[in-house]
Amino acid sequence: MEQVRLGKAELLVSRIGFGALPIQSVDRNSAVKVVRYAYDRGFTFFDTARVYTTSEGDLGIALAGLGEKVVVATKSVYKNMKQLDQDFYTSLNNLKRSHLDLYQFHIVNHQKELEAILKKGGPLDYLREQQRKGKLRHIGITSHRPTLMLKALETGVFETVQVPFNYIENEPLEKLIPLARSLDIGIIAMKPMAGGVFSNNRAAISWILQHPDIIPIPGMCKIEEIDDNLQALTAPPSLTDLAQLEDDKQELGTIFCRRCDYCLPCPNDIEASYILHSGMIFKRVGWDKMEQSHLDAFTKGLSCDQCGACASRCPYNLPLTEMVIDESKAMLRKAVELGKLTEDQLQDKLKAAEKKT
Ligand code: SF4
Ligand code: SF4
Repeated sequence: MEQVRLGKAELLVSRIGFGALPIQSVDRNSAVKVVRYAYDRGFTFFDTARVYTTSEGDLGIALAGLGEKVVVATKSVYKNMKQLDQDFYTSLNNLKRSHLDLYQFHIVNHQKELEAILKKGGPLDYLREQQRKGKLRHIGITSHRPTLMLKALETGVFETVQVPFNYIENEPLEKLIPLARSLDIGIIAMKPMAGGVFSNNRAAISWILQHPDIIPIPGMCKIEEIDDNLQALTAPPSLTDLAQLEDDKQELGTIFCRRCDYCLPCPNDIEASYILHSGMIFKRVGWDKMEQSHLDAFTKGLSCDQCGACASRCPYNLPLTEMVIDESKAMLRKAVELGKLTEDQLQDKLKAAEKKT
């Protein structure tokens, strides 16, 4: 695969990177197999994070001994300096590397977080010390807020920036990407498939590849996903692809869940992303795929007591306190239409939830 310069970091990375969040959902053997498959087909850039549970350890095993042939980026959402130090050395150990190639401040979504990073003797100085010790090469930043990243890049201290960027979330094209280019800062596209909402993933990736200096990092944990993403390298998006992407954009609007699961855990064990995505998924794969396990999840959604914990953690500021209940009700109504639930059963569920909350 073509190798691309990642801005002034001067790292050479594969045209498409490997987003390593999803490998935490499969067992170690499968994860290692998938990562090796990707490497054998030209992927040399792997992006993980301390919070992706087993992901770093799996990458460490799969990429052991490859040294400079691969570039591995990781990140931390530390709460204090002690945790940053722990995270840094845990990542180094998990990834089995003599140094980390790129360490990113993870999910910096508020001005005060950015200020804390830059404070004298703070996290940025800590990472600079690791650079002096030869344990780290480059420092980057990730965020869901392109506007805040304008301020971050203007400080001149970050070598890469990672934000959501895809056909629907293309706001960075206005200011952030031009600024990053003018400062020679590497641009990494988080959520290139907007959390899996596109009906044609290959088209979504090939749209990003039209921007020659932007590196998409689609999340993968299956061999087929790697093969699909490689297809994106073969041709630019066709007119049909663009029309399909536009249809997806019109269908979704701007308020939709990206399935990052940062909103978890819920004290009532409700999985917001599962509920919010179900409608779209059934629309694509057929409503007859709705099973008892889905009905159970929607029923659980009715018991949301609107505590707001999930909404406060959602980086996209989705109005989850309303969305979870509304979508659960809508899906259960759909289940009645499909004959998977009777109207009486639905009314019983609604009454039970009312009593509980
Ligand atoms: S608002 Fe509802 S779904 Fe969100 S954390 Fe609270 S109980 Fe769970
Ligand atoms: S509701 Fe928000 S935090 Fe939760 S998965 Fe969706 S986008 Fe992520």
